[in-house]
Amino acid sequence: MQTLSTAVYKREFVDRFPGDHSGDLTPRPTPGVLYSKAIPTAVKKPELLAWSKDLAETLGLQEPDSEKDVEILGGNFVAESMYPYAACYAGHQFGNWAGQLGDGRAITLGELEVQGKTWELQLKGAGPTPYSRRADGRAVLRSSVREYLMSEAMYYLGIPTTRALSLVSTGDPVLRDMFYNGNPAYEQGAIVMRVAPSFLRFGNFEMLAARNEIEQLRKLVDWTIERFYPELNGDDKIIHWFKAVADRTLSLIVEWQRVGFVHGVMNTDNMSILGLTIDYGPYSFLDDYDPNFTPNTTDLPGRRYAFGNQPSVGRWNLIRLANALVPLLVDKKPLEQIIDGYQDAYFLKYYTMMGEKLGLDELFQSDVDLVVDFEELLTALKPDMTIFFQCLMELPLEAMNVEQILKYFEGSFYHALSPEEMETLNDVIQAYIMRLKTNTCTRETSREKMRMANPRFILRNYLLHEAIEELNNGDNSLILKLQEAIKKPYSNAFDEFLKKRPDWAAKKAGCSMLSCSS
Ligand code: AMP
Ligand code: MG
Repeated sequence: MQTLSTAVYKREFVDRFPGDHSGDLTPRPTPGVLYSKAIPTAVKKPELLAWSKDLAETLGLQEPDSEKDVEILGGNFVAESMYPYAACYAGHQFGNWAGQLGDGRAITLGELEVQGKTWELQLKGAGPTPYSRRADGRAVLRSSVREYLMSEAMYYLGIPTTRALSLVSTGDPVLRDMFYNGNPAYEQGAIVMRVAPSFLRFGNFEMLAARNEIEQLRKLVDWTIERFYPELNGDDKIIHWFKAVADRTLSLIVEWQRVGFVHGVMNTDNMSILGLTIDYGPYSFLDDYDPNFTPNTTDLPGRRYAFGNQPSVGRWNLIRLANALVPLLVDKKPLEQIIDGYQDAYFLKYYTMMGEKLGLDELFQSDVDLVVDFEELLTALKPDMTIFFQCLMELPLEAMNVEQILKYFEGSFYHALSPEEMETLNDVIQAYIMRLKTNTCTRETSREKMRMANPRFILRNYLLHEAIEELNNGDNSLILKLQEAIKKPYSNAFDEFLKKRPDWAAKKAGCSMLSCSS
């Protein structure tokens, strides 16, 4: 095993593409380059708060046992083979072209090759870069804990995601106006080391197309395919690649819908070219089922990034990527065909996934109606999504009357049901029981399917909120507990957290709604 400070890092991206090597951190447009050298700005006193043992093992890295390692994680020291840089990308934010954005507070240190796989190591919150614009390049403890825990939670849920190796506090205060309401306050600063095969976004490609740097665009596409989609080649490889990106994107969104994850900021600069969940900001799981729920205060009143809109936003974002690729193609029709096929491909996967959540042996055409009935039920009655599906898993198949059904599901609702609502619940559940009885597999097989599709533990915002408050008071016990709970989302090992969101959390600032200010 090696340590962070003794490992040898590769710098393939840096060597392959033009960059600005001046090291100047002044915010500026950087035409002609794909990245700019950016050395992390030292912090007062980096302290390791959390470390992902499993990920470290995958990376063949030993837990920091020297000051040097922690200094790397805090941005105070850069190993010799590292080449720290900030990537230049653009993007569409909330539906509008935003021009150059770039890594404003993320700095890639190097690439680590482990058993033929390469991992990019990146610090988030390590100080200004040429892309910081008017911001400070820093992250606060609150948002760093959220990124650290949630990206690992998604990994254990089996959902494609960037990972997080470490969380350090910096010892420096950071000024933040948490709700953009003119009340800035100092918070503790922190830095997360994130890890992924690549942090390339749709926006990296959009940037080159917008600047009309077509040769670099071609080189970046070629490199991305060669490195991350090596199975694709031939004359039509760009088309096949776009199809693969579209498939990964829609599959990712199906997975988000499965567990009730709302990303909150699906701008094209936050869309991974590898179909990973990336940039954890004002995200949230659904507590009560609500397709209109957006956790992001900046997303109001339009609710562009609400839970129910995620699939169509995925398509919209893919169109932006397709537009960036047009200059590389003689004929853009095949791209249009892929976009045209997005909806059908999405729904095919989505209904199959819902069939698994419901424990159906097969998905028949008539089951689509049942899924739609369930969606209408959930939307109208707004039960706790996670608890409701856990109830379905244990549902007895014997005849039950309305009162019995109500009593059975009562614990998943956030309000007392009206007589009409009870009737809706009864109708759908009765139809569901009838359907389950036609399953050709055993109830146990069906339950097993449901167990894998329905998490029992989700990292709810109120839990994160409590953990962060405690950490701010110097107590890391809840964080450590959550760090264990996220590893077993489908088991009953942490049933102490299988509870509805408490009343106090429904309206609490920083708990149900969050801003991008982090
Ligand atoms: P986001 O909405 O977090 O994806 O951020 C959009 C853009 O703003 C990206 O280019 C970020 O790097 C940049 N950004 C966000 N927060 C900061 C910050 N505190 N300092 C510098 N740049 C930031
Ligand atoms: Mg971002």
